[in-house]
Amino acid sequence: MKGLLIMLAFAATLFGQNEKIRIIAFGAHPDDCDIRASGTAALFAKMGYAVKFVSVTNGDAGHQTMRGAELASRRLGEAKESARRLGIQYDVLDNHDGELLPTLDVRKEIIKEIREWNADVVLSPRPNDYHPDHRYTGVLVQDAAYMVVVPSVVPDVPPLRKNPVFLYYEDRFQRPNPFRSDIAVDIDSVIDQKIDALDAHVSQFYEWLPWVDGKLAEVPKDPAERKAWLKRVRTSKISAPVRASLVKWYGPQKGNAVQYYEAFEICEYGAQPDEARIRQLFPMLR
Ligand SMILES: [Zn+2]
Repeated sequence: MKGLLIMLAFAATLFGQNEKIRIIAFGAHPDDCDIRASGTAALFAKMGYAVKFVSVTNGDAGHQTMRGAELASRRLGEAKESARRLGIQYDVLDNHDGELLPTLDVRKEIIKEIREWNADVVLSPRPNDYHPDHRYTGVLVQDAAYMVVVPSVVPDVPPLRKNPVFLYYEDRFQRPNPFRSDIAVDIDSVIDQKIDALDAHVSQFYEWLPWVDGKLAEVPKDPAERKAWLKRVRTSKISAPVRASLVKWYGPQKGNAVQYYEAFEICEYGAQPDEARIRQLFPMLR
């Protein structure tokens, strides 16, 4: 009996059933990860997997009337509230918003975060983007994508023994190359939880971003109404390539019915997963 149990446990591990996947997501600002991956994070959290969001800057420039330490502190509170609503952890690094550079010091901070989380999957923006902080966050994570296994780099934190899979968030930028949807996750079951996570970032979604777009007057005052408004403005139609990706992962019936999604592209620099490995890392695709 004992031998049989050991064999079953071994087989389960072999097929990834018992593997506790650890996911870390990087964004430039304390709301970036939420926009691109909080639906997927909520699904992972429900499965009992460990998810952490990391904002590489403290967001201290993202407001029309507040700034500096006062704004950074408000945004840290919003990030922690978003994490609470998602059932994940949230770190905010103390680099200035709007001034991020791909320096060795910040690269070391990123390497440390990935190692300490013992990450299997690392998410980041692509290094082409309109915002320099987003762009350099992409570069910094790419620059960590091999160094996490090198013992002599950041020697006070033990290196990872396996290189994680690095994935990019979806974006709309076409040059030098458009985003490719390698993995598309159905987030229909958690879309309201995702909107709830975004709703925690009051300074951004109801104040700063509408102000930048000249649409501050459109934001409803009533909390329930503004959340419904947020869902309207923060969800989009599914493009043909993403729909094809959803059909690939979920089959035609379910894939064609999905309304809300998050999509990811596999970075060439980390571990290169085959289809079976992707289904292990993203059990919601099974
Ligand atoms: Zn941002």
